[in-house]
Amino acid sequence: KGHVRFEDVAFGYEPERIILKGVTLDVPAGSSLAVVGPSGAGKSTLARLLYRFYDTTAGRITIDGQDIAKVQQSSLRAAIGIVPQDTVLFNDTIGYNIAYGREGAGQAEVEEAAKGAAIDGFIAALPQGYESTVGERGLKLSGGEKQRVAIARTLLKDPPILILDEATSALDSRTEEAIQATLDGAAQGRTTIIIAHRLSTIVGADQIVVLDAGKVAERGTHGELLAKG
Ligand code: ADP
Ligand code: ADP
Repeated sequence: KGHVRFEDVAFGYEPERIILKGVTLDVPAGSSLAVVGPSGAGKSTLARLLYRFYDTTAGRITIDGQDIAKVQQSSLRAAIGIVPQDTVLFNDTIGYNIAYGREGAGQAEVEEAAKGAAIDGFIAALPQGYESTVGERGLKLSGGEKQRVAIARTLLKDPPILILDEATSALDSRTEEAIQATLDGAAQGRTTIIIAHRLSTIVGADQIVVLDAGKVAERGTHGELLAKG
């Protein structure tokens, strides 16, 4: 489950300015696709189309052969987990933030998801800027820790399709390694589309697509792209 296809997709935020042109992608269920390319190439736009923040201008996107334009938005979005580059946390505990969107999640499930994302030491903590009624002060989480909250939320949601928008921000190499391991774990057994900024992800991806000015400029495995230069 979770075979994603983009078939000759075109898109423009404004009709007179086309952002994506003739984009065809085939991501078999359970495999990973890394999308790389310069800023402004249209990488994030691909993710927004899959989640149906916007509809394609031409062509279509299918999941398991079904046109996503014909699928109920709620069931489409239930099938997709997004780990954004910048996670905005609600003014409540980390545990609440992880459980958000999964009504009725039990404490044990939340803890397991938190553990999977290596954020289990923080479940009861409050994000910075929040002060509880008993006067507890919030805890400042780093960008990497916030990303782990988003990963935990996704693990709890357990969708067949995962979109990762990796942070470009300079993480120290130890944090980067830890997050990479967490992301790899989350991607296990899921169709994963990675807007890639890290070399490590590109090496591990089943397919790499280089997007340039809204078009697929190159595609292949890491080895194939290296051989082409
Ligand atoms: P990145 O380089 O990390 O992919 P971008 O700089 O492309 O991020 O975009 C950052 C945010 O700004 C995105 O959420 C996008 O929706 C918004 N954005 C980018 N370009 C425009 C634009 N021309 N008009 C409105 N919003 C934009
Ligand atoms: P990338 O993720 O590769 O950096 P984006 O998909 O964010 O690229 O953006 C692709 C192009 O679309 C850019 O020219 C950007 O300015 C434009 N863009 C992005 N978001 C919006 C938006 N909400 N409205 C109008 N233009 C946008």
